[in-house]
Amino acid sequence: MKRFPEITLNQFQLAVLLDEEERHFYNVVIDNYVYCCHCRGVAIEGIDVEEIYLTDLNDIRVVGRCRKCGGGGSPTA
Ligand SMILES: [Zn+2]
Repeated sequence: MKRFPEITLNQFQLAVLLDEEERHFYNVVIDNYVYCCHCRGVAIEGIDVEEIYLTDLNDIRVVGRCRKCGGGGSPTA
């Protein structure tokens, strides 16, 4: 079966997609569990999200910038 490509979401679409609990989880992940390859560890100050994707597995993938070092990260939520 063909896999669907990732869909780009904007912040508004994401807000519609997530219920209250999921939004809380998303924020916790963004602030606490994003790996920064420049800091070589968790981005302790969180990241500024630049791009949001909905994957074919119905996961949310975000791309953003580490607030501490300004480096790009590639976390999954
Ligand atoms: Zn960093």
